[in-house]
Amino acid sequence: RTSIALFTRDLRINDNPMLYAAAVGADRVVPLFVLDPGLPAPPNRAAFLHRCLADLDAALQDLGGALIIRRGDPVTAVSRLIAENDVSDVHVSADVSGYAQRRQERLEEIPGVAVHVHDTVTTAAAPGEITPTGGGDHFAVFTPYLRRWQAAARRTPLPPPPRITTPEADSAEPRDVAQGDGLRAPELADGGERAGRALLAEWAANAVTGYAEGRDDLAGDRTSRLSPHLHFGTLSPVEVLHRAGGGSQGAWEFGRQLAWRDFHHQMLAARPATARQDYRPRGDDWRDAPEELAAWREGRTGYPIVDAGMRQLLREGWMHNRARMITASFLTKTLYVDWREGARHFQWHLVDADVANNQLNWQWVAGTGADTRPNRVLNPLRQAMRYDPAGDYVRRYVPELRGIPGAAVHEPWRLPSCERRALDYPDPVADLAEGRQRFLSARNG
Ligand code: FAD
Repeated sequence: RTSIALFTRDLRINDNPMLYAAAVGADRVVPLFVLDPGLPAPPNRAAFLHRCLADLDAALQDLGGALIIRRGDPVTAVSRLIAENDVSDVHVSADVSGYAQRRQERLEEIPGVAVHVHDTVTTAAAPGEITPTGGGDHFAVFTPYLRRWQAAARRTPLPPPPRITTPEADSAEPRDVAQGDGLRAPELADGGERAGRALLAEWAANAVTGYAEGRDDLAGDRTSRLSPHLHFGTLSPVEVLHRAGGGSQGAWEFGRQLAWRDFHHQMLAARPATARQDYRPRGDDWRDAPEELAAWREGRTGYPIVDAGMRQLLREGWMHNRARMITASFLTKTLYVDWREGARHFQWHLVDADVANNQLNWQWVAGTGADTRPNRVLNPLRQAMRYDPAGDYVRRYVPELRGIPGAAVHEPWRLPSCERRALDYPDPVADLAEGRQRFLSARNG
């Protein structure tokens, strides 16, 4: 018997039910990754992916196999390998994007093979596993979902599969496959299962207990930074939860964030069109403001806390969650620009970008998603004073403002005019009170 283990967003050997089932159910396994050139190739994710593939290949070689990498349409590549190797079974992980769902449907149409779709590989709870008792195919409000998610039974993490044997096959090089369109962020995190496991071990041993108090401290940077590994599946969400443990307030709060991840996945699975369309339609009267949008993208809005977040994104391919909320609220509520513009920019630069979390977090902030208070407007100055009280986050990412001490860095316009003029830093692109008023009247009017 020969099976194909089709890797997608599950680039690991540990706790991978897809790979495990493929390996134990067959004599020979074709561990396959197919890069579809029809998909965009943002440089940060391409660079991270390259490291993941090289690391996965090394791990598979230690088990006696090798990763086969192909370029093209995944279903065509699978069909060819089926014919070349007399394959009887194809294993793949369940995933929620429209692209993944179509791929799965097409795989299931291939004649003569059994296709096995594995849940709880990319999420801790399978979308559709937890449904509202009153009826409906998904939860639209987080808190009741969280209660059920916390009470749900979880499987135990799996070890890597025993030895595997891979038939001879031509393979592309990971570097050729994972070429991005453009330059990667200079301080991008390291990809691959080994890097992910090292980060997880460190996090579980030292940092998770302080998570509840530290998670909103922008300068403290005390969140796990596990998101790229969860996105590419170099870490398993089931194992991450398991390793974070229980008991402490930090572990509870951390589990709650992973529940947000599953919550967004189950929303997208049930409503794939929300990748582009409002989950709760509120009219399409967004402003067309190309200059303000460009200032936002480049981190020169004149609001230091917004600019620091946007520049962290360009420098690291990642942004702190609190900064994501502040910058997204500024774009959609203060500037009243369509959330899709912001989501597109994040999708290109974020190394952890995925359709479920990016689009639905954007919708949450824009008030078109699952937020039960869709008309709240974050005031960036108040956010800055609260979550970066000493101004260190701003000084780290906005070098023009490094000379301004303490919280004064958040309001450069208050400096004496000679000092203000000496700074190579723009005036605010918009008035906060006016922006807020415009948003509220548009929403209530
Ligand atoms: P931690 O605080 O350590 O949290 C642990 C894990 O929980 C994260 O790795 C992530 O997988 C999950 N998580 C935390 N917060 C959320 C959340 N609000 N929604 C869903 N999952 C969450 N996260 C992504 O993974 N991909 C995205 O494309 C993405 N886009 C976002 C866009 C906007 C506008 C906003 C406001 C948030 C977005 N998030 C996204 C959620 C969140 O900001 C990141 O998951 C988090 O900052 C990652 O850092 P961390 O791993 O240190 O998080």
